[in-house]
Amino acid sequence: MPRALVDSFGRQVVDLRVSVTDRCNFRCRYCMPAEDMRWLPREEILTFEEVERVVSIFVHHFGLQSVRLTGGEPTARAHLPELVRRLAALPVELSMTTNGASLARLARPLAQAGLHRVTVSLDSLQPERFAAMTGRDVLGQVLQGIEAALEAGLHPVKVNTVTMRGFNDDEVVDLARWGRELGVEVRFIEFMPLDGAGEWSAERVVPAEEVLSRLQEVFALEPMGARGSQPAERFRYSDGRGTVGVIASVTRPFCGDCDRARLTAEGALRSCLFSVTERDLRPLLRGGATDEEVAAAIEAEVAAKWAGHAIGRVTFVRPTRSMSQIGG
Ligand code: SAM
Ligand code: SF4
Repeated sequence: MPRALVDSFGRQVVDLRVSVTDRCNFRCRYCMPAEDMRWLPREEILTFEEVERVVSIFVHHFGLQSVRLTGGEPTARAHLPELVRRLAALPVELSMTTNGASLARLARPLAQAGLHRVTVSLDSLQPERFAAMTGRDVLGQVLQGIEAALEAGLHPVKVNTVTMRGFNDDEVVDLARWGRELGVEVRFIEFMPLDGAGEWSAERVVPAEEVLSRLQEVFALEPMGARGSQPAERFRYSDGRGTVGVIASVTRPFCGDCDRARLTAEGALRSCLFSVTERDLRPLLRGGATDEEVAAAIEAEVAAKWAGHAIGRVTFVRPTRSMSQIGG
């Protein structure tokens, strides 16, 4: 019988983000440093067996309900469908966040291996702007990837857009309209100070409230009820055609409602995106620890979760890892 994995807010952790690689072929300006990254050596990355073991401990000891594969770019990990096949044997909802550039090729094998849903990052529908924001001139490829995900039956397909003032904030309505026509929910995320390049400033953040009022100038929207443990505040279009969301991670932090933990590619467990501490599970996994010993280490890290990220206040401490090294 699983026991509850409870954080210092008293909330049960039921969702695990698993970064399967720190590598990425993009250089999104809100995420990666502009200069070359030093990737982790292969032997430092958890093997599929090790990932499967940690997830299965989360499921069997703590009743984990959902796993999201992320990165770096998860599709940069060789043989990803094989990992999906292993995890799909566990009773969890299985999803992935991806830049979408390889989805045209991988959507079907991933769906066949047991992936349920996918979220694709897409910051612009304008090719030049897309290239300026992501460092790769592959908008067409990403759009094809989204189509392929829909055709492969991954459901739902969602889109994450990081809104950055002066870069893509004038495209909010275009992106929402595009998503509505295609049948995907676009969620506008506030730019968080987790970029490797240190480009973040409060002026670059486009508050969710501002995104909503731009949308409401054009569309009639109805709130879809309480957010619960989900970060997105969701709205349906009043004509019944589709949904849209905002994630106010900076202006309305949802730390007290968060039900997630994060596993980095090299096996560190983080209880929060903004954690300044983490628990390295790899020595336990490779040193002969029992499942109960690994479970105890997971419990200790989650119980030590700190009280909110405090972005914008003097108490804010910027984590040393960038978003690409944590996984979003
Ligand atoms: N490479 C995959 C991708 O881009 O979807 C998965 C990893 S990425 C780090 C996960 C999510 O984090 C993406 O949707 C990305 O847009 C978001 N993200 C990255 N840096 C961010 C930042 N500084 N603020 C807000 N969201 C960010
Ligand atoms: Fe890569 Fe995703 Fe970060 Fe973009 S957001 S640089 S695609 S890890």
